[in-house]
Amino acid sequence: ASGYSLLRDPHHNKGLAFSEKERDAHFLRGLLPPVVISQELQIKKMMHNFRQYQVPLQRYMAMMDLQEMNERLFYKLLIDNVEELLPVVYTPTVGEACQKYGCIFKRPQGLFISLKEKGRILEVLKNWPQRKIQVIVVTDGERILGLGDLGCQGMGIPVGKLSLYTALGGIRPSACLPITIDVGTNNENLLNDEFYIGLRQRRATGQEYAELLHEFMTAVKQNYGEKVLIQFEDFANHNAFDLLAKYGNTHLVFNDDIQGTASVVLAGLIAALKLVGGTLAEHTFLFLGAGEAGTGIAELIALEMSKQTEVPLEESRKKIWLVDSKGLIVNSRMETLQQFKKPWAHEHEPVEELVDAVKAIKPTVLIGSSGAGRTFTKEVIEAMASFNEKPIILALSNPTSQSECTAEEAYTWSQGRAIFASGSPFGPVEYNGKVYVSGQANNAYIFPGFGLGLIISGAIRVHDDMLLAASEALAAEVSQDNFDKGLIYPPFSNIRKISAHIASEVAAKAYELGLATRLPQPENLVTYAESCMYSPSYRSYR
Ligand code: NAP
Ligand code: MN
Repeated sequence: ASGYSLLRDPHHNKGLAFSEKERDAHFLRGLLPPVVISQELQIKKMMHNFRQYQVPLQRYMAMMDLQEMNERLFYKLLIDNVEELLPVVYTPTVGEACQKYGCIFKRPQGLFISLKEKGRILEVLKNWPQRKIQVIVVTDGERILGLGDLGCQGMGIPVGKLSLYTALGGIRPSACLPITIDVGTNNENLLNDEFYIGLRQRRATGQEYAELLHEFMTAVKQNYGEKVLIQFEDFANHNAFDLLAKYGNTHLVFNDDIQGTASVVLAGLIAALKLVGGTLAEHTFLFLGAGEAGTGIAELIALEMSKQTEVPLEESRKKIWLVDSKGLIVNSRMETLQQFKKPWAHEHEPVEELVDAVKAIKPTVLIGSSGAGRTFTKEVIEAMASFNEKPIILALSNPTSQSECTAEEAYTWSQGRAIFASGSPFGPVEYNGKVYVSGQANNAYIFPGFGLGLIISGAIRVHDDMLLAASEALAAEVSQDNFDKGLIYPPFSNIRKISAHIASEVAAKAYELGLATRLPQPENLVTYAESCMYSPSYRSYR
């Protein structure tokens, strides 16, 4: 290959870091200015440039340009500056990027499979340049973060999630495949937007939808085999639960909104118990939002409670209450409830408003998973603080605009007593002369390590016990120093080490359950996980 094309190949390009010898061997002489610099200096320069951009979307575009230009530098930058860059390639900025994806779209970073490709999906998969795929993140764009239906422009999410699979979980970039399935959109703004990149029609539903998805699932398994991980991402709940149930027994599937969220929140709660005391079963939980995140988390909490206490699952569920857009989920609503809400209907009189539900149920833990912002009002938080010494309050909805409350509100309205974490990050807050640092209850802690664990063990199915193992592994990473600051999650700066530990526990479960195919089982799974992780340092080309 010519030096010119080498400089334009993001997988191999090193820019000014090509050594003298490499410049001779690969016909690069004259194509680069004389200076040779290290990857470290490139990182320093990129961060310097990056920080000049004040507008988050410009930062996002700078990162995407780098990914297109020099892949190793992109990942090294992301890994070395994870706390600063995560909010750019992921929530909250990725949300804005999806909203404006039509405008900022330059080059496709994943596969688009639309109704036009019906009957030819296997062919489409073969158009992707990489053959050995280990992880697919797929969306149909119907519920992007808390922003709703963004149609084809949801592509930003699989792209962002997979860059985290690589940066945080060490999956090789070439083994990652972002996919957006386009069955139309019901978003009027997009349908009328001249720059919209997707099908200009309303969403296909019912049989037409199911058939396209089925063709897709079949083609993926046919093309990549049994061990490819398919992560469902940001599907609307009327499809998400069904897809997971339908393909859970035939494919290696994982729904991050249901299962990943559950695992990360359970980890935070296990850690929080060290600060507030008591066992899970001694706490009472109230959710605002009874969709994928809410019911997914609720179910995993109940499962863990039942394991700890040997009480039947149905009993454990009674400690957990959910509120949806129609109020508290109670028995009298049973007939009209969607299937996934039914297990959570308990005996109680109807309650419409969250604040009244809080006063009636008196939860020790309040979890926001509705996608509706500003719903934890002063009254709600004050009520939580009135009967809890240390109320646990999680505002999970993304992006920041949809957060149930801000960190500042949680601390101020609880007089500094809340144990608080949020889905999108908030900076430190000063209240009464004390600085409060809140954690980020975000899936990014779990899914990269979880996926790594599945891959290194050659797992063929996902099992709930793997989610519990991941939660415990994450909770174990919270240090005394973190607890002293009121944190229930470790800082993201250690995430690769954390991912290796999560991977090792998930893999161990896969072996224990007989779901692992990579035999024999490696002796030390942590070391093995670490040895499998992709490193973005430059290689020398001879
Ligand atoms: P979903 O399946 O659509 O569920 C949303 C639920 O919230 C539904 O039960 C809905 O009620 C309820 N709801 C909506 N607006 C409400 C309001 N104003 N008052 C009361 N209830 C309301 O969505 P999801 O997948 O669970 O996601 C929800 C949010 O969680 C999103 O913002 C997402 O970004 C966030 N999330 C965060 C993480 C994380 O890592 N932190 C992970 C996953 C999801 P009905 O059922 O009555 O319509
Ligand atoms: Mn999601």
